[in-house]
Amino acid sequence: MSTSTVATPRLRETASDAHQSGAPVTRAGRIVNAMSVDVEDYFQVQALEERIGRDQWGAFERRVECNTDAVLRLFDDFGVKATFFTLGWVAERHKPLIRRIVDQGHELASHGFAHFRADSQSPEEFRLDVRRTKQILEQVGAVRVRGYRAATFSIGKRNPWAFQVLAEEGYDYSSSVNPIRHDNYGVPDAPRFAYRPDGVTGLDEFPITTLRLVGQNLPCGGGGYFRLLPYPVSRWALRRVNTIDVQPCIFYFHPWEVDPDQPRVADLSLKTRFRHYNNLARMEPRLRRLLDDFAWDRIDRVLARPQ
Ligand SMILES: [Zn+2]
Repeated sequence: MSTSTVATPRLRETASDAHQSGAPVTRAGRIVNAMSVDVEDYFQVQALEERIGRDQWGAFERRVECNTDAVLRLFDDFGVKATFFTLGWVAERHKPLIRRIVDQGHELASHGFAHFRADSQSPEEFRLDVRRTKQILEQVGAVRVRGYRAATFSIGKRNPWAFQVLAEEGYDYSSSVNPIRHDNYGVPDAPRFAYRPDGVTGLDEFPITTLRLVGQNLPCGGGGYFRLLPYPVSRWALRRVNTIDVQPCIFYFHPWEVDPDQPRVADLSLKTRFRHYNNLARMEPRLRRLLDDFAWDRIDRVLARPQ
């Protein structure tokens, strides 16, 4: 006689049913938010492009595998699953890491091949980039890749065609729009929550979370702002999105942000130096609080339509 067993949930609270907004909630009734990591190395960040060309990447000590393993351990400590938007360049060089991400129950997704901005590519270049990256990730990870995040949130008013290209290349969703004002990216008047871009078939956009306050969208979904602001401010903002907007948050960070000992790149502008190195040592303890204070899961389980 066979007995059906119910797996013991590893999460202290598991996503059990859908909230009226469509997002899953925990058994305790909390909205489940979406956690994501942009898997790239410290020398591949756009802010450092002023000093480091892609032809120099090979000369740098690679720390992405070690740092991503630290992130995996962190998630494991809290029973959290997340989405890892990974560069094809990293996947080609760190195949065992990609398999660990998948084997540990996380979602593997695409961050493009070599961190070229989507809005610096022609539609044809972009198509080849997202196609190639999806193929590499699916081959190495042996899973279907559904999600894409553009380098530096670079889908906006200049390249709305990118959504349709992603849909045609077999992606189900993008998380590439940050609806804020910023000098490098941002579409301040874009929708703040999941939407189907105009004229696009078969692909949804899940923007990075913002707080609506005094008529503006303020960043609260991760990145440098999370390192800059005191943690209680971030927690307050994210809680407001859950309670006032009644929507799940999408949070993101990078493996290099939990690596305060990373090599320092010389001759950066003051602004870049501040943005990249500010509060790195505070990141891990802050993330521990964040993982503890909210319920989290992979983007595909929180937001994507069923396959
Ligand atoms: Zn990136």
